Amino acid sequence: MTSRPGRHFLQIPGPTNVPDQVLRAMSAPTIDHRGPEFAALTTELLASLKPVFGTTGPVVVFPGSGTGAWEAALVNTLSTGDRVLHVETGHFATLWQQMAAGLGLYVDFVPGDWRHGASPEAVAERLAADSARTIKAVCVVHNETSTGVTSRVADIRQAMDATGHPALLLVDTISSLGSIDYRHDEWGVDVTVAGSQKGLMLPPGLGFNAVSEKALAASRTARLRRSYWDWQPIIEANRRGFFPYTPATNLLYGLAEALRMLQAEGLPEVFARHDRHAEATRNAVRGWGLEVLCADDREYSSSLTAVLMPEDQDADKVRKIILERFDMSLGAGLGKLAGRIFRIGHLGHFNDLTLAGTLAGVQMGLQLAGVRIDPGGLTDALDVLRAE
Ligand code: PLP
Repeated sequence: MTSRPGRHFLQIPGPTNVPDQVLRAMSAPTIDHRGPEFAALTTELLASLKPVFGTTGPVVVFPGSGTGAWEAALVNTLSTGDRVLHVETGHFATLWQQMAAGLGLYVDFVPGDWRHGASPEAVAERLAADSARTIKAVCVVHNETSTGVTSRVADIRQAMDATGHPALLLVDTISSLGSIDYRHDEWGVDVTVAGSQKGLMLPPGLGFNAVSEKALAASRTARLRRSYWDWQPIIEANRRGFFPYTPATNLLYGLAEALRMLQAEGLPEVFARHDRHAEATRNAVRGWGLEVLCADDREYSSSLTAVLMPEDQDADKVRKIILERFDMSLGAGLGKLAGRIFRIGHLGHFNDLTLAGTLAGVQMGLQLAGVRIDPGGLTDALDVLRAE
């Protein structure tokens, strides 16, 4: 790795910048994961995780990536041949439904244009048409990291309830948890899927499932093959503060510290901070004369903004210039958006001046790449940051 002065700006929408105090917490010596000190750590951790998910029920923590936590949500609740309803919000929704099909589930994939969130009306329509009740779960990505669009999960739940359909609701919050308001219990979500490397400000390596009573009941009869991802032995061992395998001890130290930081700031304040930074970013994009990819102002993401490039411009060229000149990483366009957009991550350990620096780097990169923009964009963002 080349050494460059100053800090690298890791402004992809996850993994995010890990705070120094979290890094320090993770550097403590690894302890016996079957000893009393570890049991105390687990017990405290599992309790302080619950408010972040907005639940009083169990949260299962796996050593694994978000993709593993997707799989855990499916294999614990469903059986081979079950139908599941996924909604095409973007690249990650597409990957999740591919996984479901690979596991032997029949997938109904509601088509989308990658500029809108999951439509509550479309979900309700599909469920209402399913008079035989063959759809067992609806799977939605809360914050589609590939597009910067946030689906309205509470509205989706209401629309599902209005049809009287009993399908479970599984929600991916990998790039929203700890950044965007989210309420597992209040919104009637059955499984919430999350990962460590975004709003929780940790390195990659932990996956999470928050689990409702209904999902737990489903897990008792679900027949998809599972072993490592099985919730039951983990929940059982967690009661005594342990895991049925060697846990990622040092990541758990980091998690405990990150949760303390979120608690100290206050979750409503954390969400308001993200909302404000997202608004300032959209101001910059519009001020430059460019377009925000998200096409519905009820669905703007507060954790990242995807910027649509003019037809004749290559987003990857802009990202390359910004990386080489200013040592800042931005998110690439994924799947069918490759080269068409770049994504600015503004989540996690992030403040006003981090955003100002990020947007200054983006503005200079656009100019160096020869994209015609109005340099007033940066000032428009600073106006939001300066306001009380
Ligand atoms: N879902 C969403 C919304 C994501 O943003 C990601 C990764 O960025 C994933 C799922 C996959 O998670 P992981 O890469 O940790 O396996």
